[in-house]
Amino acid sequence: MGIINVLTDEVASQIAAGEVIERPGSVVKELVENAIDAGASQITIRISEAGKKLIEVSDNGKGILFSDLELAVARHATSKLNLSSDLFKIKTLGFRGEALASIASVSQFSLLSKHRDEEVGGKIQNKDGKGFEISHYGGPDGTTVIVRNLFFNVPARLKFLKSDITEKQKISALITKFGLAYPEVRFQLFNERQLLLQSSGNGDRREILSQIYGVEVARQMLEVKFEDHPYRINGFISPIAITRSNRRDITFFVNGRWIQDVALNSALLKAYHTMIMVGRYPVSVLFLDLPADFVDVNVHPTKAEVRFSKPDLVFSMVQRASRRALLAYSSVPEICHSYWKSDNIIQSDQETQWSPASMLPNQDVQPILRQTTDGVMGNEKRQEFVDTPKHLPLLRHIGQIGATYIIAEGPDGLYLIDQHAAHERILFEKMMKQMSDVIPSQPLLSPEIVHLPLQQAVLLQDKLEILKKLGFEISEFGPNTFQVRAIPALLIGINPIEGIKVVVEDFEDDEKPLAGMIESIIAARICKRAAVKGGQILSKEEQRTLLENLEQCDAPRTCPHGRPTMIYLSVDLLEKQFGRKGSL
Ligand code: ADP
Ligand code: MG
Repeated sequence: MGIINVLTDEVASQIAAGEVIERPGSVVKELVENAIDAGASQITIRISEAGKKLIEVSDNGKGILFSDLELAVARHATSKLNLSSDLFKIKTLGFRGEALASIASVSQFSLLSKHRDEEVGGKIQNKDGKGFEISHYGGPDGTTVIVRNLFFNVPARLKFLKSDITEKQKISALITKFGLAYPEVRFQLFNERQLLLQSSGNGDRREILSQIYGVEVARQMLEVKFEDHPYRINGFISPIAITRSNRRDITFFVNGRWIQDVALNSALLKAYHTMIMVGRYPVSVLFLDLPADFVDVNVHPTKAEVRFSKPDLVFSMVQRASRRALLAYSSVPEICHSYWKSDNIIQSDQETQWSPASMLPNQDVQPILRQTTDGVMGNEKRQEFVDTPKHLPLLRHIGQIGATYIIAEGPDGLYLIDQHAAHERILFEKMMKQMSDVIPSQPLLSPEIVHLPLQQAVLLQDKLEILKKLGFEISEFGPNTFQVRAIPALLIGINPIEGIKVVVEDFEDDEKPLAGMIESIIAARICKRAAVKGGQILSKEEQRTLLENLEQCDAPRTCPHGRPTMIYLSVDLLEKQFGRKGSL
C-alpha cells in the first residue's frame, strides 16, 4: 500500500486554481518544494539555457515508493493531504498534488527515486509528453527530477519568457530565498557546469545574507527576535543607514513559504516611519511562524500569497517586532552619524521624487525644467520658461553661495546654478561624445579583485562590453569575481571597487526595454560619482570654468537624471518683486 492518494473529487474541487507552470522558475520552485517536503538536507539544482533546455533537481530526501511512482505524476495525487479539513492546517509546502503532473505535461520528464525503506529505486519517464514508462533503477536514497525542453509542446509559453539572463536571475533569487528559509539545508545551484550559488547548510542565515547582499550589508543587518506565544517573528532588517530605491529587497516568509504581501510590506515600512526618507525602502528578511490553522495557503495559484485569519494582529506584530529591533540599535551614536551622512546622499538621489514647485516658496520663481514631460507645466507662467532657447546666453560670474550654488548674471536676469548638477551634466555630455571614439581610461597600478554578490555579478557580467566602451577594463576571474585593470579617467581618485559597485547598484531586473539607453544610464552614474559635490568650495577660476563648460552643453538646464541645474530669476520678475513694476 503506497502513501500517495488520489484526492477525492470533493477535496480536489476545493483546491484553488491549479499549479501554474509559467516559466522555468516555477518548475524549480515546485521541485525544490517537493525536496524540502521530503526532508532533504541536500538539494542540488542544475540548469542549462536558463532552465529552458534542462532543469535537474536532486535531493537526498526520503524518496518515493516504487508502487507510488505512477501516482506521483498523476493529477490531484498527493501524500500531503487527505481530507478537506486538512486544507486548513497545511504544514508542507505542496498540497495540491498537481505540480509533477503539470510539469510532465509540458516537458520531456523523468523522475528517478529510491525510497529509503526499499532495496531498489524506480524511474518513471515521459519522453514525448504522452504516457509514462516505469522501470527499476539502482541509485542512492532520494529523488532526482529531470525536466528537458520545457514548453517544447507549448511554444506560445516559450515566447512569453523573458531574456535568459532574467530567467536565470529569477531562479537564483528563488534559490537564495530557499537558502534563507532553510539554512540547515545545503543548496547548490549550477548553471551549465558553473557553480552559481551554494549554501553550507550549517544553519547560519547571516552567511547566506552575505552572499545575497554582500558581507558589509549582512554584517550590519539588525536581528529581529520576537515571540508572543504562539506567534514568532525572526529574521533581519536593515539599519536606517541602509536603504534601497525600491521594495525588491523586502522579503517575508510565512511558515517557511516565501510570500509577497503588500500589507506585510507596509507594516514593515511603518516601523521605519520618519526614520528613512519617503521613497526609500529597507532591506529585510523576516520569518513569521504562525499556527498552521491561522494561515490559509490555498488562495493563490503559485502559493505566493496567503490569507491570515487575523490580519491586523499579524501586521501589528511585524511592525512592533521591527520597530523594537530598530530602536534597540539606533541609540548607538555611530549609527546615527552614518544615518545622517547617508541621508544626505539619499537626498541627492531623489530624482524621481523631486517636485520643483514644492521646493520653491514663490510660484513665479521656477527652475527651467524643460525635461519635465508629465504635464505639470500647465500654468502659463511656467510656460514662458519652456520657450527659453536651448543654449545658455553668455553668463557673467558673480560668486558662490553656501559652497553649493554659483551665481551668475545673464543679459536678462540672474542665474543660480547647482554646481553638482551642472558638473554632472558637463561630464555626461563629454563622456557621451567620447563614447563614439575612445573614452580615456586609467590603468590601475595593480589590478584589483572585486567579489560581488551573485545577482550583481550576473548583471556585471552582462555589461562587460558596455563598460569597456566606457573606459573600464574588467574581466571575469572566477565565480562572482572580477579583475579590474583600468577605470575611466574621470573616476581617478575613487576606489575602483566602489566605482564598479556604483555601476551595478540598483540595476533593474529586466533591462530589455532600456537596452539602447543602458550606456547613458551607466555614464550618468559614473558622472554623478565623479562630479563636484554640493558643499565643496570652488575657486573663482573653477567656478568660471564650470560656467563656460555649461554654456557649451547641448542640454545645460538639467542634469543627466532630469533635475534642474539652475534656477532663473528674470529682471522682469525682480522688478515686480521689488514693486518697481506692475503688481504680482
Ligand atoms: P504535492 O507536492 O502537492 O503533493 P506534487 O505533484 O508536487 O504534489 O508531488 C506529488 C507527490 O509526489 C508528493 O505528494 C510526494 O508524495 C511525491 N514527491 C514528489 N517529489 C518528491 C520528492 N522529491 N521526494 C519525495 N517525494 C516526492
Ligand atoms: Mg509539490
